[in-house]
Amino acid sequence: MSLAATLTVLGCRGSTPVSGAQFARYGGASTCCRLDFSDCTVFLDAGTGLQNQPGGISSPCHFLLSHYHVDHIYSLPLYAPLFDKSFSADVWGSEDDGLSVLQKLDRMMSPPLWPITSAAFSAEMHFHGFSNGDTLRLSPTVSADTLKVSHPGGCTAYRINAGGKTLVFSTDTELTDDCAAALAEFARGCDLLMLDAQYTDEEYSRCRGFGHSSWSKSLALIEKCAPRRALLIHHDPLRTDDELDALAARLPENIKPASEGMVISL
Ligand SMILES: [Zn+2]
Ligand SMILES: [Zn+2]
Repeated sequence: MSLAATLTVLGCRGSTPVSGAQFARYGGASTCCRLDFSDCTVFLDAGTGLQNQPGGISSPCHFLLSHYHVDHIYSLPLYAPLFDKSFSADVWGSEDDGLSVLQKLDRMMSPPLWPITSAAFSAEMHFHGFSNGDTLRLSPTVSADTLKVSHPGGCTAYRINAGGKTLVFSTDTELTDDCAAALAEFARGCDLLMLDAQYTDEEYSRCRGFGHSSWSKSLALIEKCAPRRALLIHHDPLRTDDELDALAARLPENIKPASEGMVISL
């Protein structure tokens, strides 16, 4: 059986979606990636990139939510297959704060913030809470390890394992000393590391504690983990294509700023 996975970046903008000619090449949609395996599909977060998909999708389908900030869940209530009775989806998220996944999603999906609640989903939906450090069994061949990373309210990094290939997704991560040490261990030697790199060093000096990393802190961590490849994600909403091109020009061949529509075979 082939366990090869394909990653498609559907959105890699942080904090809020943006639009405009200056963002056209790297894209303005907020965080969402799709992983296609031979026996399931996995979405990493459900930001506005979820709306960017060409064509359909079949069950089984999993959503791994890093956390519940709106830029990461905004398009879940807009995703058409979730209103199709023949579709089924499993939604996974941390319940370390005592609230269930559904209770947290319903904070956004309820009036007056949104006209409908999760009760309107007609697909067969299963919501799964987990605790930091749990391993999630997504299919007979795909699993995900979890690590809580430093971010206001908490955020989960995932290490997806399938057929000997590993992808680590760590968005919304402030690389404090403790967090960097734990994440370095968690991501060591993976095939692909996707890591928050929202700020320039100068911006980070003003935004310390906001829960995101600087380019140089992220690059130092990537060097430590030595993944085969790495993508910088959660681009600041003000970061233009030209600025990301200038960053890309300074990077080694195996590290790139993520861009919308990018497809990578693991
Ligand atoms: Zn975010
Ligand atoms: Zn966040």
